[in-house]
Amino acid sequence: MASLIREWVGINTFASATQTKLLELLGKIKQENGNTLTILVVGKGGVGKSSTVNSIIGERAVSVNPFQSEATRPFMVSRASAGFTLNIIDTPGLIEGEYINDRTLEILKRFLLNKTIDVLLYVDRLDAYRVDNLDRQVVKAITECFGKGIWNRALVVLTHAQLSPPDGFSYKDFCSKRSGALLKVVRLGAGLEKHDKQEFAIPVVLVENSERCNKNETDKKVLPDGTAGIPHLVKTITDVVLNGSKSILVDKKLVEGSNPNERWKLLIPLIFAFQYFFVVKPIERAIKNDIAKEGRASWYKKDYGCDQSRLS
Ligand code: GDP
Ligand code: MG
Repeated sequence: MASLIREWVGINTFASATQTKLLELLGKIKQENGNTLTILVVGKGGVGKSSTVNSIIGERAVSVNPFQSEATRPFMVSRASAGFTLNIIDTPGLIEGEYINDRTLEILKRFLLNKTIDVLLYVDRLDAYRVDNLDRQVVKAITECFGKGIWNRALVVLTHAQLSPPDGFSYKDFCSKRSGALLKVVRLGAGLEKHDKQEFAIPVVLVENSERCNKNETDKKVLPDGTAGIPHLVKTITDVVLNGSKSILVDKKLVEGSNPNERWKLLIPLIFAFQYFFVVKPIERAIKNDIAKEGRASWYKKDYGCDQSRLS
């Protein structure tokens, strides 16, 4: 991969117990999956994708923007530690206005060409109260690009997890309602059937990217439910990598085959052949038949008459 690989110094910013845990998990991945792990981060604009990349890396590697004007290009951050390379690809939000931005999607596909996606992080906010058609469109677009199998390698990440739930909800109930609603949309958008539920058991992980997050006595960030955001995220990423499913190799076939316009282009010669044999040919045949039946056209008979004596 062409990007610059730097030493992963940000790992030293984590509490020492977290560092040990992270290295242990990466060691596990190294054993089973080779010495590189590539994570693709997707979602709508402003949900905390870039902040999550920075939280995992432990440094401000990509820019974070509160007003949603993101860069239009994907960006890969590569960090190495103990012979292991972690690549995280941050992407711009795929929605523009009310629709999928096809150009952004096309740029993303080209960027990913010949890369392997080991894990997909589908990011959204925990503190949102409803899901809508936009969420479904993003999931659908991702599925069309990389195939349904990508959801075997996916995690839903919910940011802004340091939250006080609305009245009448415990933190746990609120999280499970929000996760349930989002997972439902993911299943619908990805076209996963009910019987796929077991195979595509997509885990949900809560993350708090802001410094506002509570810390325990060992200076480790902890969420209201007692879990530690980033180590828990890395642990879940490890589980997904080791779940027996395949990584997604983004090859030319996948990129071009997933463009509906390209697919239709292949049908053009067939459509012409169909028109020629089933429309043009029958019309030609009908005209010839008519001519043969009528002999000389009626206008000829009328103008010149059938009285041959007049002509001679
Ligand atoms: P992106 O557009 O999806 O890449 O979102 P960004 O990472 O740029 O974040 C958008 C805004 O949300 C920024 O102002 C971030 O500081 C803020 N933000 C992101 N994640 C969190 C989070 O977990 N908690 C809080 N409080 N703010 C966050
Ligand atoms: Mg961003």
